[in-house]
Amino acid sequence: GKPRVVVVGGGAGGATAARYIAKDSKGEIDVVLIEPTRTYYTCFFSNLYIGGFRDLSSIAHSYGTLASEYGINVVHDWAIGIDRDAKTVSLAGGGSVPYDRLILSPGIDFVDGAVPGWSTLAQNKMPHAYKAGSQSELLKAQIEAMPQGGTYVMVAPPNPYRCPPGPYERISMVAHKLKAENPTAKIIIADPKEKFSKQGLFEEGWNTHYAGMIERIGPDFGGANVEVNPDEMTVNLDGEVIKADVVNVIPAMKAGRICELADITEGNWAPVSGHTMQSRVDENIHVLGDATSQGDMPKSGFSANSQAKVAAMAVRGALTGSRVFPAKFSNTCWSLIDTDDGVKVGATYEATDEKIAKVDGFISQTGEDAAMRKTTYEESVGWYEGITADMFG
Ligand code: FAD
Repeated sequence: GKPRVVVVGGGAGGATAARYIAKDSKGEIDVVLIEPTRTYYTCFFSNLYIGGFRDLSSIAHSYGTLASEYGINVVHDWAIGIDRDAKTVSLAGGGSVPYDRLILSPGIDFVDGAVPGWSTLAQNKMPHAYKAGSQSELLKAQIEAMPQGGTYVMVAPPNPYRCPPGPYERISMVAHKLKAENPTAKIIIADPKEKFSKQGLFEEGWNTHYAGMIERIGPDFGGANVEVNPDEMTVNLDGEVIKADVVNVIPAMKAGRICELADITEGNWAPVSGHTMQSRVDENIHVLGDATSQGDMPKSGFSANSQAKVAAMAVRGALTGSRVFPAKFSNTCWSLIDTDDGVKVGATYEATDEKIAKVDGFISQTGEDAAMRKTTYEESVGWYEGITADMFG
C-alpha cells in the first residue's frame, strides 16, 4: 500500500507537518495525526487573552479541515508507547498504528520537583498557564478575584523553555489588567535567570506603563531559591515567606513524555539533525518544536512551524523521491507590552551538520515611537492569522 506517516501531537509543529505532507504529496502518502484534544488552544496570544485583548474562542482551533480538506486521518487519542523496531505507535484507547516515518511534536512537560512544593496536582491552586486552555481561564479568573492591593507572584522558569519572552509578556498583560482593575496590586517575579529575552524592551515598557507595580527578583537576590506551599498560598523566596493571592508557577521544562517513552532523549530534550529534523537516535523518527534540542532556534510556535516544513519536505523526499532543498528556518517572537505597544525579536537560520545555526537577527529598539510599536503589534496579528491557517487549513 501507500507509505504511511504518523504524526503525534497536533500543535504548531505536528499540525503543520501533517498538513504539508498531505497537501504536497497529493494522496501518495497516508497521514495519520494523533492528538488527544478536539480543540487546540494556541499558547501564542493566550497572554493577550489574559490581558483582555482577545477572547478565548479566538485562540481555539479544531481539526475538522485537516480531515475534510486534506484527507488526514485525525485520531483523538494519546500515544502511550513507541516500538521503534516494529515501527508502531500504541494508543491509550487500545491498538497500535504502524508507520514508515514517525513525526513527534508533543511540546513540553514539566520537570518533576523543579519547584519544591509544586506538582501538577497543585496546578488548580497555582496554575502554570503554560499549556493554554483551562489553565489560561483559571489564571485569568484568579487575577480577577484578587483583593484590591493584592499580590501576584510568578515563579519564572530556568532556560531552556518554550517561548523565551512568554513569562515577561505575561507579566505585561497581567499588569495591564491590574492597572485598570486593581491599580494598587503588586507583581513579584522570582527569576532563576540572570537575564531574559528582550529584557531592555520589557523593562523600559514596565517603567513607562506600570511604574512601581512590578518587582523582579533575580538569582543574585534569591530568585532561584523558591519553595511554594499551595495549601497556604505562600511562596518562600530565599527565606522570606510571601502570602500571595495568585501564584503562577512556571516550572522547568522537558520534552513531552512520549519522547522519553520512545527513548530518543538525551537529558531533557530530543536531539535532532537540522537538515531533516530526524532524531539523532532513530532515523525513522523526526522530532519538531519544543521537544527538540537542535541548536540556536528558540522554542516557539514560529520555530516549530518552520521546522515542520523542513521535516515535511524530507519525509516526502524519503518516501516518494520528491526533491529536497537545503533546510532554511526563520523565527520571530512578538510580545505585547501594553495597548499597541508591540516589540519583536527574530532571526533566520540554516542547518549545519552540527546544529541549526543562526544566520542573521533583528530586535526592536528601546525608544521607538508609538507608530512603529503599533505597526509591530499589527504585524503580530497578521502573523497569528497566517500561522493558524498554515497549521489547520
Ligand atoms: P504544541 O504546540 O504544544 O503541541 C503539542 C501537541 O501534542 C499538543 O496539542 C498535545 O495535546 C499533543 N500531545 C502531547 N503528548 C501527546 C501524546 N502522547 N499523544 C498525542 N498527542 C500528544 N510561540 C510563538 O511563536 N509566538 C508567541 O507569541 C508565543 N507565545 C507564547 C505564549 C505563551 C504563554 C506560551 C506558553 C507559549 C508561547 N509560544 C509562542 C510558544 C508556542 O506555543 C510553542 O513553542 C509551540 O506551541 C510549540 O509547538 P509544538 O508543536 O512543539 O508543541
